[in-house]
Amino acid sequence: MRLVLLGPPGCGKGTQAKRLQGIFGIVQLSTGDMLRAEAASGSDIGLEAAALMHAGQLVPDAMIIALIKARVDQPDCQKGFILDGFPRTLAQAEALDAMLAERHLDIDGVLAIEVDDEDIVTRIAGRFSCSRCGALYHDVFHRPKQDGLCDVCGATEFTRRPDDTAETVRKRLQAYHAQTVPIIEYYGRKGLVRSVDGFGAIAEITEKLTVAIREGTRVD
Ligand code: AMP
Repeated sequence: MRLVLLGPPGCGKGTQAKRLQGIFGIVQLSTGDMLRAEAASGSDIGLEAAALMHAGQLVPDAMIIALIKARVDQPDCQKGFILDGFPRTLAQAEALDAMLAERHLDIDGVLAIEVDDEDIVTRIAGRFSCSRCGALYHDVFHRPKQDGLCDVCGATEFTRRPDDTAETVRKRLQAYHAQTVPIIEYYGRKGLVRSVDGFGAIAEITEKLTVAIREGTRVD
């Protein structure tokens, strides 16, 4: 099963994609995580991407498409994947369709998580993750069970993304409305989109997404 998860920055895409990969046995492909890994490695691509990410801008389509192309042919993607943060422009959506058509594959469903812009800044400002395993937390909505200790791996170091500042978030929201919202219309015309309200407890939203996937997408 191949899914696309869309929604504004801070809507909970990463958290939900991680939970859905366990439920459906498919792998999460996050272009944001791939770019952060490139940036941490200090590669030329990573450094170019980091500057754009810190400014709240999208990185060039060609760079992202190359990253995804290299990833979807890996053995762990054979059972399917959930795309988190890709596609983000119409050109990326069209490249994805072409890439899948070459492999005689399709997108089975597109989930759009809806959250109002006013809620986004609060959500993003509070989030942090485990430095060792990447588990995601939030100061208000999802604290570790024991303060200072990761629930998943027990590590004691946490990090906050450098692009999670109020100013950068506003730029990321602008990019979302200008470049990514048209994709929802693009997939809507293909009858693939299921919208889910992103306001509520994490587990409730996972449940709504799970129902939408089971009811609204082809499963192979
Ligand atoms: P995310 O972790 O999905 O919020 O992505 C963080 C940042 O990485 C974005 O603000 C962009 O700068 C960059 N990025 C991630 N995915 C893409 C994409 N598909 N196209 C362009 N830029 C991306």
